Amino acid sequence: MKLENKLKEFFGYDNFKKGQKEIIEKILERKDVLGILPTGGGKSICYQLPALLMEGTCIVISPLISLMKDQVDSLRSNGINAYFINSSVEFEKSREIFSKIKKEDVKILYISPERLENKFFREFVSGMKISFVAVDEAHCISQWGHDFRPSYKKIPSFYNCIRNEFAIASFTATATENVKNDIIKNLKLKDPFIRVTGFDRENLYYSTENPKDKFEFIIKEIKSNESGIIYCSTRKNVELVEKKLNKAGFKATKYHAGLNDSQKNKNQEDFLFDRKNIMVATNAFGMGIDKSNVRFVIHYNMPKSMEEYYQEAGRAGRDGENARCILLFNGQDIVTNKFLINESRNLNYIKTSMEKLSVIINYCNTSNCLRHFILNYFGEESEEHCSNCSNCIDEIEKIDVTVDSQKILSCIYRVNQMYGMTSIIDCLKGNYNLNVKNKKLNKLSTYGIMKNDPKEYIRDLIGHLVADGYIHVSNSEYPILKLTNKSKEVLFESKKVLINKKNKKEKSKKIIEDNFDINLFEKLKNLRLNLSKSRKVAPYIIFSDATLKDMSKKKPVNEDEFLKVSGVGEKKLSMYGEFFLEEIINYKTSEKFSN
Ligand code: ADP
Repeated sequence: MKLENKLKEFFGYDNFKKGQKEIIEKILERKDVLGILPTGGGKSICYQLPALLMEGTCIVISPLISLMKDQVDSLRSNGINAYFINSSVEFEKSREIFSKIKKEDVKILYISPERLENKFFREFVSGMKISFVAVDEAHCISQWGHDFRPSYKKIPSFYNCIRNEFAIASFTATATENVKNDIIKNLKLKDPFIRVTGFDRENLYYSTENPKDKFEFIIKEIKSNESGIIYCSTRKNVELVEKKLNKAGFKATKYHAGLNDSQKNKNQEDFLFDRKNIMVATNAFGMGIDKSNVRFVIHYNMPKSMEEYYQEAGRAGRDGENARCILLFNGQDIVTNKFLINESRNLNYIKTSMEKLSVIINYCNTSNCLRHFILNYFGEESEEHCSNCSNCIDEIEKIDVTVDSQKILSCIYRVNQMYGMTSIIDCLKGNYNLNVKNKKLNKLSTYGIMKNDPKEYIRDLIGHLVADGYIHVSNSEYPILKLTNKSKEVLFESKKVLINKKNKKEKSKKIIEDNFDINLFEKLKNLRLNLSKSRKVAPYIIFSDATLKDMSKKKPVNEDEFLKVSGVGEKKLSMYGEFFLEEIINYKTSEKFSN
C-alpha cells in the first residue's frame, strides 16, 4: 500500500507536507510520537490517515469544542466515519453516539479532556478496540505553555481503561525545550519518535507598522471581500473597531470573553461561513479555528509576547496561499502591556513576561528582516533577507530626532522621574488642566516647549525612546518614566537619536502570482457559497481557496481531470464534481463564444 495513494483517495492531496509521512509511518508501526509542526503544517492528517488504515477507533483528545465539530464535518465530507463527544453534546445524544460506535466501524472519535474523567465514558471505552490515542494541542499539558489545561494531566490515568496495546501520538505547534520535556514526561511517552518541522511559513508576508491613525491604516489595507482577523488587546477596542468597520461598509463581527456563549457561537459561525468576512477579536478567539482562507491577520495592538504573536499571526494563510500578518503598534501599546503585566501579583510571572515583552518591542523596532528575527527567536537558522517582509521590501530611512528626544528626556529629568506619560505630555504641550495645576507642571522650564507638536507625535516618540532603551518604564502600579544610562548620553553628551522611517514601496511587494483564471475563480467561489448555504456546511469544508484556484488553472471538464485537482479526492468528486464541472464547462463555452 502506498501512503500517497491513500492520501489522494481520502483527502485529495498528491504529496505529503513536511514531516507528515514519517509521522504516519511511525504511528502505523505503533510507536509513540511527538510531532511539532507549525500552525497550518497539517497536523490533523498525521493522525487521521493512520486512523483510517488501522483496525479499531482512534481517540483524539482535543481542547476546543469548535475545533471538533469542524474536524468531524470535514472528515465526514471526505466520507470518513467520525464522531465527537464533549460538553456541547447532550446526554441523550451521546448515548446515541455510543450505540452507533458499537455497531459501526467508527475510525475517529474526538473527545474533550474533561470527558476522560467521566465514569460512564471510561467504562464504555474499555469495551472498545482502540487503534491509538492522539493528543492534539499537547502543550496544554505543560504549565510552561501558554494554554495550560489541568484536565490534560488526567490523560495518563485514562490509558488503563484501554484493554489492547496502543500507542500515543501527540501534536503541538509550539514547544520550547521545557514544554517538549513536559509533554514527554506528563503524557508518559515511551521513547517517542520526535519530529520538528520548519517554522517558516513562506506564504506569509510580515510587516510592522506605526501608523498615525490605526483605523485609517486598516481601511486602506483591507479589501472588502477578503477574509481576515483583527486582534485587539481589549474588549473595548474590539467593540470600537468592529463598530467603525461596519459603519465604513465592511462586514465585520466580533468575539471576546464578555459576550455570552450563544453570541460567541453565532459570531464565530458568521465568520467561518463567510457571512461576515472580518473577525475583530481579543486573543480569546482562534485556538482550534481551522479557517483556511484567512488572508490577513492584523494586530491592532502589540501582543505581549512573540509566542502569542506567532501563533495568532499563523492563523493566516493555512491554505498555503499568500496572506499578510501586520502588526500595528505605538508607544501607548507598550505602556498598556506593562500595566497589564504588572497587575499580576506573581513576581516570577512579571519578570518573564517583561522579558518576553521586550522581545516583541524589539521586533517592532528592528530594521532587519522580520522573518529572520522570528525564526532566530524560535531557534531556527535562516537567511538574513527574505524579500517578503516590510523590512526587506520597504526602504528604511533613518531620521534624526535628537532635539525632540532631548526635550522629552529633560522633561522627565525636570519632574524628578516621578510621573508617567500623561503628565510628561501635558507638560511638554503646555496644557493647562487639573493635573498640571496639582503637580505644578507649569512652573517647569520644559512647560510648553513642544506646544506645536501633535500629542500623538510626542507619544510615539516616547514609545521609540522606550523601545530603544532611552527611557525605562517602571514596573510599578502606575508606570513612571525614568531615565537610563543611554538617555544620559543624549542629554549630556549630545549623542544622536535616530529612528526608522519606512518609505512604503507598494509596487515591489513580492507576490507569488499563480496563473489561474480569476474570473472563473470568482464564479467557483460563488458556487461554493451557494452549495454551502444549501448543505449547511462551511464553504472551506467543501473546497479550500487553494483547491478552487487549482481548479481555475486546470479547468477540468471530466471526472478524471477533476481528480487531478489538488484537494479533490474520490468522495469530494462524487459529492460536488458534477456542480463544479458544469460551471467550468459553461464558463469555457461562453469564453469560446465571446472570443
Ligand atoms: P494544523 O492543525 O497543523 O494547523 P491542519 O491540519 O489544519 O494544520 O492543516 C492545514 C491545512 O493544510 C488544511 O487546510 C489541510 O487540509 C491542508 N493540508 C494538510 N495536509 C496537506 C497536504 N499533504 N497537502 C496539501 N494540503 C494539506
